[in-house]
Amino acid sequence: MARTPLDKIRNIGITAHIDAGKTTTTERILYYTGKSHKIGEVHDGNTTTDYMEQERERGITITSAAVTAEWKDHRINIIDTPGHIDFNIEVNRSLRVLDGAVFIIEGVAGVQPQSETNWRLADRYNVPRIIFINKLDRTGADFFRAFDTLKEKLGIVALPLQLPIGAEENFIGVVDLVEMKAIVWEGGELGAKFHDEPIPAELEEKAKEHRQILLDTAVGVDEKAMEEYFENGDVSVETLKRCIKKGTISGEFRPVLCGTAFKNKGVQPLLDAVLDYLPSPVDVEGIKVAPEEGEDEDAERRVIPVREDGPFAGLAFKIVNDKYGNLTFVRVYSGVLKSGDQVLNTTKGHKERIGRMFQMHADKREEIKEVTAGDIAAFVGLKDTGTGDTLASQEDPVVLERMAFPVPVIDIS
Ligand code: GDP
Repeated sequence: MARTPLDKIRNIGITAHIDAGKTTTTERILYYTGKSHKIGEVHDGNTTTDYMEQERERGITITSAAVTAEWKDHRINIIDTPGHIDFNIEVNRSLRVLDGAVFIIEGVAGVQPQSETNWRLADRYNVPRIIFINKLDRTGADFFRAFDTLKEKLGIVALPLQLPIGAEENFIGVVDLVEMKAIVWEGGELGAKFHDEPIPAELEEKAKEHRQILLDTAVGVDEKAMEEYFENGDVSVETLKRCIKKGTISGEFRPVLCGTAFKNKGVQPLLDAVLDYLPSPVDVEGIKVAPEEGEDEDAERRVIPVREDGPFAGLAFKIVNDKYGNLTFVRVYSGVLKSGDQVLNTTKGHKERIGRMFQMHADKREEIKEVTAGDIAAFVGLKDTGTGDTLASQEDPVVLERMAFPVPVIDIS
């Protein structure tokens, strides 16, 4: 497979309070990105991302440590971020390796305690975020009320990029405030098609009002866009998207989208938003090197930029035990790693030989020959590399800041 350019990679997490729809949304993403042909509903106990599940037929490994999906020429690596309170250490650890996150909020309850906890953790790691208000088909769901809880409970500048069309069982689509059009789904079944329409007359005023808020907020982050705005009273879609991305990465504001994953409305625009607004590995600051011995933990430290032509440096962030042995999931920060290479485990101080490497899709694992900076792969055959260990090139070892959490191996064999 051709190498995906760095700017076309997104390493994201999806996080939610339990039951808000993380599994369903992930399933829909895998469906729409074409890698999961047999969709597993939650109640079937057959979901691709449920790592406690047994392996399915054909010897395919089910693991949610990191799943790769392709959308519009981009590669989206979805890294599992457990939602349950008991997994806080895991959430913590996963947040380190992702460049952006989708926060799913329930349309009836709004922000719930676990979303709040995860939000604070994401703050700590400066993870850029977009918000998806889900379950808008449910009785009692209210976009604006759920939206208000974002401000009340998280104290953020939440910025709608969409407004719902219809409510509860009559929820049919969204007004896209960036392109000022309506997106309407034809039916609610899986694979349902959608089309663009003019904004419904009864929503025109509200759409204009929110488009104005969007412009005033987003354009404020970029001087050149401000000039364009003052000159023309509006900006191009391209400029607006650039501003939204900039403000999302800096955390100035948090874009909000909406829909119902279960009724298959809203997931494709959410995927577009992941590409448009969440950063690629090159859009974010690289990873820091570890403190020297005796050095203050909080001291300013050198940052390793994400570069394919740098020395190899990576971080083992999860180990999953399946029937083929241990799969070690590594996020590569710098350089290129080929199967057969020898690397240095800088945490343990010994060498490791890289055996076969894989990229995990929803329904298959694909063997790859190399993995480059910014990407994620699973390795077989690392003998003594634990979760949180850092790996480096032997010739030019760069010691990355390690993850400080002792985390158990998840056994799914
Ligand atoms: P998770 O715990 O966040 O992974 O949530 P799940 O995806 O497992 O969803 C919890 C329950 O809510 C399941 O029964 C789903 O079928 C249901 N659900 C998920 N999304 C929606 C939605 O958009 N609308 C409705 N009505 N139900 C949903």
